[in-house]
Amino acid sequence: MGGKRKNAVDGKTPLSKGRPGRKSVAAPSPAAVDAPALAASGAKVLAGGAVAVAGPEGEVVKLLDSDVPKAVLRCDECHGPLKPPVYQCSRMHHVACGDCGGECRPCAGLAASAVVYVQNAYLDTLFGYTKVACPYKKHGCASSVAYRDAAAHAAACACAPCSCPECLFEGSPADLVRHLTEESGRHAWGARKITYGTDHRYVFDELDSEEICEELLVAEEDDGVFLLHIHRVELYHHVALACVRNKAAAGPVYSSSVAVEGPPAKGLVVKLETKVVASCPVPTELVYDDYEALPVLPRMLHERDESRELHVRVCISKTQSISE
Ligand SMILES: [Zn+2]
Ligand SMILES: [Zn+2]
Ligand SMILES: [Zn+2]
Ligand SMILES: [Zn+2]
Repeated sequence: MGGKRKNAVDGKTPLSKGRPGRKSVAAPSPAAVDAPALAASGAKVLAGGAVAVAGPEGEVVKLLDSDVPKAVLRCDECHGPLKPPVYQCSRMHHVACGDCGGECRPCAGLAASAVVYVQNAYLDTLFGYTKVACPYKKHGCASSVAYRDAAAHAAACACAPCSCPECLFEGSPADLVRHLTEESGRHAWGARKITYGTDHRYVFDELDSEEICEELLVAEEDDGVFLLHIHRVELYHHVALACVRNKAAAGPVYSSSVAVEGPPAKGLVVKLETKVVASCPVPTELVYDDYEALPVLPRMLHERDESRELHVRVCISKTQSISE
C-alpha cells in the first residue's frame, strides 16, 4: 500500500524528522530529494515543474495532525514560510523560498565556486499538499488550508479576533462583549440589545470637553456587535458608529442611520446615513479619518434641570449576507 507518497512523507522530508538547526551549515538537510531522482523513481514530472506523486492505483495517504517545528517549514535565507516554488541548494541541501533563489548564502565560502539554488519540484508538490490549521482555530475557524495559502486565508479569515481596548484579551466579537460586560470582570462595560431595521433611542448626559462615552450594541439576530462612540471636542459632540469585528470582508454588510434629535421646540434633527458601516477590531480605536462622525452643535442638546442631554437615535440594518 501507500506508494511513493507515503515513503516520501515518512522518510525523506522535513515533515517527520525536521531540519538541523539553521546555524549549523555542516549538517545536510534530510529534505534531500531532487526532481531527476524522483522522475527516475517513476513519478511523473509535469510541465511547470509539478510532480504527480499519487501511487500507481491513485491511492492517497491521510496524514494525521502532527506538530512540526515552525523552523522546519521556513526558508534558510529569509526565515519566511516556505511555499512553492521551493529551491534547494545542491551542496548542503539548504532550502529557500521563491524570493530567495540564486546563490546559497549559508554555503558561501564552503565551495570553490558559488553554490546556487535549483527549484525542487518534489518539495513544491509536497508543500502543495501540506495543510495547516487556520491560526484562528481557537477562535472558532475550522478551516485547514494549504500551507502556501495560510497567510492569505488568515488575512481574510472571519474568525480573526478582536482585541480588548483595556487588557490583552482577544476573542470573537461575541466573546469580547462577554469579556467587557462581565459583572465580576474588570471592565464592567454596558451593552444594549438591538434589532436590525428598528429605531433605538438613547439619552446621554452632555460630555465634558475631550470626554468619550461608548455603548456596545448587540444584535439579537446574529450577535453582530456595534460600538456607538461619542466624543466631545470643544463645543461639539461627535457621534460615530462602527461594527466591532476584525475582517469586514468575511461578514455581512451593515448600513446605519445615526440621528441626533434636538429639543422639540426647535424641531431640528441631524442625521448621518451610512451604506457600509466601517469595522473596528478594537472598540474605542476609532480614527476619524476612517469613521464618519456626526458633528452635533450645542443647540441640539436638551436642557434638563441643571444639566444637558444628547438624544441619539440609531437604526442598523443588515443589507447583505456574504455566504461562507
Ligand atoms: Zn526566503
Ligand atoms: Zn547551501
Ligand atoms: Zn480561518
Ligand atoms: Zn479586557
